[in-house]
Amino acid sequence: MDTHTSVLNVDDYAPGLYARTKVLRQAGFDVMEASTGNQTLKLASEHKPDVILLDVNLPDMHGFEVCRRILHISASSVQQQHLVNGLDTGADGYLVEPLDPAVLIATIKAYLRVRQAEGALRRSNEDLERFAYRVTHELNEPLRTITMHGQLLEHRLAGSLDPDALRSFQFLQEGVRRMRAFIDDLLRYSQATHAGSDVRPLDVETLLGEALSSLNAAIEESGAQITHDPLPTMVTDSRIENVLQNLIGNAIKYCRKDVAPEIHISARTEADHWIFSVRDNGIGIEPQYQKTIFQVFHRLHGKDVPGTGVGLALAQKIVETNGGRMWVESVPGAGSTFYFTLPQIEASAVHQAAN
Ligand code: ADP
Repeated sequence: MDTHTSVLNVDDYAPGLYARTKVLRQAGFDVMEASTGNQTLKLASEHKPDVILLDVNLPDMHGFEVCRRILHISASSVQQQHLVNGLDTGADGYLVEPLDPAVLIATIKAYLRVRQAEGALRRSNEDLERFAYRVTHELNEPLRTITMHGQLLEHRLAGSLDPDALRSFQFLQEGVRRMRAFIDDLLRYSQATHAGSDVRPLDVETLLGEALSSLNAAIEESGAQITHDPLPTMVTDSRIENVLQNLIGNAIKYCRKDVAPEIHISARTEADHWIFSVRDNGIGIEPQYQKTIFQVFHRLHGKDVPGTGVGLALAQKIVETNGGRMWVESVPGAGSTFYFTLPQIEASAVHQAAN
């Protein structure tokens, strides 16, 4: 047992508090005690205990009010609603008295194992993000040098290059362009986890307009017809524009040869969230790839269609860091509909979080 694991034991019933503290100390935990909600909040913020065992019935405030990532102990009666409330307000577990000491200790250990695994995963993700960020930055520098000197050489040798040498220059430039697109995408992907970087009330119709103007050249070239339902004004992340741009860009890119792209964007509410969809009449996606295309670098196409395989993974990451999910339904040869959900957030919640 890690001797530095600290437990804040909270109960206004002194004999219960005493007995549990004894069991916890015997098991090797550092134990602090509180008997009111206010004391609990104070000790929790000052000492950041690893575990808080919180009684539901406290004299000054209800246990649920103090509940933040808490392992919960009820008073005595087993009320299902208590359990639901406890877990809903952020507790990791709910224990019912009378409580066997061995069960208490085993439950805390199980909880700590989950926490450790979560911490290790988070650190590993952060390492990966740092790694990707560093690599992309390091690659950018030599790439800039190659681009610049390539252009200088081309300028200097203009007119004196034979067709083969000119083709070599064009290959060089194309290679540099692909590498730059890849680096930019990778950089965006490695930074996409930071949820809510710009969450505020936004008109999704305006975001769509901006996405479409970025895609102007591709829309004109393909003759794509793009329509949309009324879209909401809602509290959301401004990067939803990138999500729309990626989905519509793909709908144009993966179109059928025989028909011009027809793309429709819609939105509807369901329970506590919005469901957005981008429907196309393109080449469609075989069922076995409908999940794997969301993996980073996974492409179903070769160099004949430009792309890095990062777009959908990035779009999904942006949606998921904002509490939504993304998926596709598709009929190969007939078209695909990409869906993503976003929670409905009250504007007041964003103001509170910002203060
Ligand atoms: P990229 O377009 O750069 O290859 P994405 O991550 O955006 O990367 O998409 C991954 C793969 O999913 C694409 O290579 C393509 O094969 C497939 N795909 C994406 N969108 C569509 C679509 N609307 N219709 C058919 N296939 C698609």
